[in-house]
Amino acid sequence: MNESRTLQGIGVSPGIGTGPAIVIRRDLPDVPDRVVPADAVEAEVIRLHDAVDSVRRGLEQLRQRARERVGPEEAKIFDAQILMLQDVEFLKGAERLIRDNQLSAERAYEFKALEVRALWANSGSSRLRERVADLSGLQIRILNHLLGQPVDEAFAPTGGRPSVVFLRELTPGLTVQFEQDHVVGFVSEEGTRTSHAAILARSLGIPCVMGLPGVLHEVRSGTEVIIDGARGSVTLSPTAEQVSEAEVAEGKRHTLLRELESVLGQPAVSLDGVNVTLRGNLDLPEELDQLAGQGAEGVGLMRTEFLVVGRADLPSEEEQLDYFRRVARRFAPAPVIVRSFDVGGDKFPAAFRILPEPNPFLGWRALRVCLDRPEVFLPQLRALLRARIDGDIQLMLPLVVDVSEVVRTRELLAEARASLARDGLRAADDLPVGVMVETPAAAAIADRLAEVSDFLSVGTNDLTQYTLAVDRGNARLAERFTTYHPAIVRMLHAVRDAAVRARLPISVCGELASEPLGAFLLIGLGYRNLSISPVSLPLIRWLVRRINASTAARAAEAAREAATAAEVTRILEEHIAEYVDLGSLETGWLPQDRRNTKLG
Ligand code: PEP
Ligand code: MG
Repeated sequence: MNESRTLQGIGVSPGIGTGPAIVIRRDLPDVPDRVVPADAVEAEVIRLHDAVDSVRRGLEQLRQRARERVGPEEAKIFDAQILMLQDVEFLKGAERLIRDNQLSAERAYEFKALEVRALWANSGSSRLRERVADLSGLQIRILNHLLGQPVDEAFAPTGGRPSVVFLRELTPGLTVQFEQDHVVGFVSEEGTRTSHAAILARSLGIPCVMGLPGVLHEVRSGTEVIIDGARGSVTLSPTAEQVSEAEVAEGKRHTLLRELESVLGQPAVSLDGVNVTLRGNLDLPEELDQLAGQGAEGVGLMRTEFLVVGRADLPSEEEQLDYFRRVARRFAPAPVIVRSFDVGGDKFPAAFRILPEPNPFLGWRALRVCLDRPEVFLPQLRALLRARIDGDIQLMLPLVVDVSEVVRTRELLAEARASLARDGLRAADDLPVGVMVETPAAAAIADRLAEVSDFLSVGTNDLTQYTLAVDRGNARLAERFTTYHPAIVRMLHAVRDAAVRARLPISVCGELASEPLGAFLLIGLGYRNLSISPVSLPLIRWLVRRINASTAARAAEAAREAATAAEVTRILEEHIAEYVDLGSLETGWLPQDRRNTKLG
């Protein structure tokens, strides 16, 4: 018998599954070198278009399936694939290769895909990498069709025991294609928490672990596996003891899930009567349904990076307006707090054509880019002012370090308003402007920033990175990246204090608010407004209803005196244990990997 081994990846969809592995090697098919005679060229072009039509029909079926199994918003993921499949430039390029070089349709498609992939792969953006993944999925389908091989994956496990499916890359198509009864988990070598496939796996409630390079070489079909999608662990050939532990943990998780369901729609009020407003963090349009379904009281952080990263051009004012309007109407009259483009660092839209910087996280990024490039910022401000007609849209500024940045933003806002009036377009007279406190500078001058802002919101992810001088993207430093450091606890206390004195609304939108211990700490520090990742919303609502805010306050007071992060965590655990079983929390809670929360 093989020895048991546990591999650590990125948990992207919580849940524990046990079963035999099915390893799927789904690579691009070999395309034979074939040229076609001159008089067969037109027939070859038709063959290419027939293949595109047939693959489109297949994708439309998958879209329908996604609509039925997951929901209309998520099904839109397939619209993007269908658009990509029918891209006119791409198909014209392939046609030219057939006509000019007499290549076979499959060879021409392969060449064109190679060209596009080379272009995208150099961008360094994970959004574009994902489009490369979508392109590979299409390429496999088209080439298999042209080569007369089965297009739709004929390897879906059927009958027998439900399996854990291992792949190099999980695509949206594959995620919805498998019968739920036959799959207890997905493990992939590539992918991130924000990938489309990850979103679908979460919506379907299938445990999923990504980011395990080389795992296909380590596992064989039939190997027993335990997948824990919350912890991100995959255990190969587990011992009997590990299997029964997993079963117990899964049982606890189900009990917890039932409890979470029972508080859906209930207010987030603590046992001692403290009300906490729970809003949602919205990263992608596909998460809108999930967020609304979980009773978020508005959006506390709407990231807009997906609108720019991975594109060759900038989104138009109208495109932004459509999206802002859609979200505003969905949550009206609750607020929707839109963060201006937080690009930069290592993620620049191709449209900027920026040279790499030696220190990107201390470089030209976020609000700095928007203020230096009014042609980028003004259309966004105009779209926000126009969308405010339809709901309580507000603006939040990332990476603020100075009062002048807020003042300058207000000047640009006045310019945007004046230009809208000149154009005769309907828009709100004003737009609340808030500041993200996510640099030590902003935390230190929170009282001064409060004088020029309508609200403050603490971004604990970047605040931790910049305060501890620990790169949030460096896996080697992951252990050192802790928001429970006493320095952060003290800053959180001081920032809230400054906001209360200025009588300004204050919230937290960093991932700390999405963690049970973190939310407990924040409530103890007096925060009454938290913005949470969609996946954690039910858990935090349930938690708030089970605790006494006064106990949380005692824990927070002790935490402020602690010397180390370990001490802070221990204090919080000791106090929270009065109300919840920490063991069962771990199984249902998807720990936020702050390194992977950013699109890019
Ligand atoms: C943060 O820094 O805490 C935050 C919420 O923003 P982001 O994770 O998008 O940088
Ligand atoms: Mg940030």
